Amino acid sequence: MGSIRLESVSSGDIAACVGCGLCLPHCPTFRASGEEALSPRGRIAIMKEVNEGSLLLDREAVEFLDTCIQCRACEPACPSAVPYGRMIEGAKSDLARARKVTPRLMRWGLGALRRRFLLRASRPLLVIGQRLHLVPRRLALPRLAWRNEPRLRNIAVDPDVWIFTGCVMDVWQRETHRSVADLAARAGLSYGVPDRFGACCGALHAHAGLRETSIRWAERTMRSMPGDAPIVVDSAGCGAAMKDYGTSIDTPQARIFSNRVIDAVEWLAGLLENPDVARSLAPRSADRPTVVIQDPCHHRHVQMVHGATRRVLAGRATLVELADDGLCCGAGGAFSLAHPDLADSVRARKVDMIKSSTTNDGQIVVASANPGCSMFLAAAGLMVRHPVDIVRDSLGDPP
Ligand code: SF4
Ligand code: SF4
Repeated sequence: MGSIRLESVSSGDIAACVGCGLCLPHCPTFRASGEEALSPRGRIAIMKEVNEGSLLLDREAVEFLDTCIQCRACEPACPSAVPYGRMIEGAKSDLARARKVTPRLMRWGLGALRRRFLLRASRPLLVIGQRLHLVPRRLALPRLAWRNEPRLRNIAVDPDVWIFTGCVMDVWQRETHRSVADLAARAGLSYGVPDRFGACCGALHAHAGLRETSIRWAERTMRSMPGDAPIVVDSAGCGAAMKDYGTSIDTPQARIFSNRVIDAVEWLAGLLENPDVARSLAPRSADRPTVVIQDPCHHRHVQMVHGATRRVLAGRATLVELADDGLCCGAGGAFSLAHPDLADSVRARKVDMIKSSTTNDGQIVVASANPGCSMFLAAAGLMVRHPVDIVRDSLGDPP
């Protein structure tokens, strides 16, 4: 084990860190543990020492790297522009290739995401399991309804927009896809959905260090939505990964594809700038729910589109901001499954922050635009909705 080097992490990237520590307060694992080795600076120091040969990549060193949630909150906080996301993704892929992280069971589970029939078949089993209290809490699944929304179908051969339906969301949060489709229809746009090749964008695999698999699935996803229409993505994590295809796959075709990808709230905020669309999407309901905004890390620190969430919800809800600079909730792709104790303590801080953010006695609604975050927070007893669902609710019945 000791001879392994992190070959995907460049010495130039490591040297960019000057050790100032300004990233530390933004790191959820450092905040939860107080340990330097669980901070961005500590993890970069481990990468450096391993590659210089002064530190053995033993079980403890692997654990320090593997417990990074990859929220990337340290990146915008860094005055030296250290590309930490690229470094930890490279380190994870080296560790996964050496079979030091991402155990076989998790690889199998991630592999199943491309098999839509397996995911769909799992839903009724999970619903029954939940009713019988047989589903482990560790899976962080919200309570699923017996009936799922119908799947979206292509309504155009050459659509105005593509709606990326993906894997997990298309089984457990399909109502959000329907909200996006409804908003597109009200704005006079036709939509298409990817064929079976677009079953999963590969984001969770990249996160788990399975880089080769993630690139294979990314290439299939690109083939599933041809043409030049924008690709609307209502999962912050998937959107961040798809916007990054231009860099991770690094071909002209991938760069063109990435430029077509747009997050659902970013897309909606753009639509609302058109006065005609703004009129047709004006709130019809007088009801103004109190909504606490929880920015998913891939919205705030990676895509940096969190301002759009405020713009689309303005006038439809009483918005409550959290005073935690967008600290991660602890979900992190499959992180909460791999490191449940650390994930739970990170989530506990977020839940306390949400509960103390409003004096509203009624049900707190949390807006979150990422399926991992929303399921993880819902499993802690919160009501979590995607911002586009809240916009959709403000419009009353479908046209
Ligand atoms: S990506 Fe997130 S968890 Fe990882 S070191 Fe940076 S701030 Fe900490
Ligand atoms: S803020 Fe940047 S330069 Fe400073 S310790 Fe963190 S990663 Fe290194």
